Amino acid sequence: MILSPRGVEDILPERIYQYQWLERKACSIFSLHGYDEIRTPTFEKTELFLRSVGQETDAGKQMYTFLDKKGRKLSLRPEATASVARAYLEHKLDKQSAEWRVFYIGSMFRYERPQAGRLREFRQIGVEAIGQASPYLDVEIISIGFEFFREIGFADFDIQLNSIGCKKCSSLYKRELKKYLKNHVGGLCPVCKNRLEYNTLRVLDCKNKECRLIIEQVPVLGDYLCDDCQIHFERVKMGLGYIGIQFSFNPRLVRGLDYYTRTVFEFVAPSLGAQDTICGGGRYDDLVEELGGPSTPAAGFSIGIERLLIALNKNRAEIPSATTPFIYIATLGEANQTKGYQIAALFRSQGIRTWLNLSEKSLSSQLKIADKKGIKWVMIVGEREVTENRFILRNMQTGNQEKIDWADFKQFIRRLQS
Ligand SMILES: [Zn+2]
Ligand SMILES: [Zn+2]
Repeated sequence: MILSPRGVEDILPERIYQYQWLERKACSIFSLHGYDEIRTPTFEKTELFLRSVGQETDAGKQMYTFLDKKGRKLSLRPEATASVARAYLEHKLDKQSAEWRVFYIGSMFRYERPQAGRLREFRQIGVEAIGQASPYLDVEIISIGFEFFREIGFADFDIQLNSIGCKKCSSLYKRELKKYLKNHVGGLCPVCKNRLEYNTLRVLDCKNKECRLIIEQVPVLGDYLCDDCQIHFERVKMGLGYIGIQFSFNPRLVRGLDYYTRTVFEFVAPSLGAQDTICGGGRYDDLVEELGGPSTPAAGFSIGIERLLIALNKNRAEIPSATTPFIYIATLGEANQTKGYQIAALFRSQGIRTWLNLSEKSLSSQLKIADKKGIKWVMIVGEREVTENRFILRNMQTGNQEKIDWADFKQFIRRLQS
């Protein structure tokens, strides 16, 4: 037997309704804010990610990279923002409109050590807005995330906010930070020793106890922000205040990808333990330029669906399953199958899910099948029923049976739907 590779999973029908429900909610909230869906390819040229996500970041190092038959270097996408920015440039959207707002839903891939809420293929939903420099875009992006969580009834989170400055002021800070950390390099964990040179900011994010002791003493990014970045950040905080969104200022919050500038934020769910970020995002004003386009401000966020579902289930949130009525049509004898087709077609045309028996099985084994599938209604189509044009309807929950005249079917369907 061939099993699925490590770190990927099947989402079986028993669970898929949870994904569909989240995706429906996301589509409707994002669309209400004027965002349209985009679907970008699952793999891209590796170079795209090296220039956006960064080679030395976790996401950059964990990429699934391969050569195609012509020897071209390709990677499965570790995230979607780079692809969205690439699409923006490739389709010359910068020349068409000042602002572009899109959202996406899809699988991302990272070679991680698999654990709860962390898979090698995982799903993200996210929004990206390209072409708007206003701090109120940052506010809107955060509020879209906030409204999405409110819409799905999830309140167990804290919004953490920080500004990591622009290229100008953050490089000044990075130099100081590097200098400070080099003086304390003996106390850093092996991972951070590695990060020190190429991904210095990420050290601030380390959860290691010894590293935390050092991090608590490091110079704070906020002290290095230039005037423009400072003013931008003040407006973001003010804007969140206007619409009543509470947040915590976290001066040590950084994001794991290279392209972020200025505002960064995370929605953190304490109930999740170590892997507690359910939504992360921020501004990336340099990315479009980095990919060869004109200087273009942008911001966005992404939400990990698997992790969010773990949090929802832990908080015993109500995830509604499909409520469409479902009926099983039991047929007895080949001659009566024709009537079964006719009845099934009528139900389906009225929007009722219908499972039509196709086997030669006895009535009792057909009832068992319906029961296992959790189907509430069974309609029995046997020889006698076809002759009389009256069909037995069985409620599988109560065991009650009644007879329904073919002439009264429309009325019966209305009853099912109510
Ligand atoms: Zn700055
Ligand atoms: Zn560390």
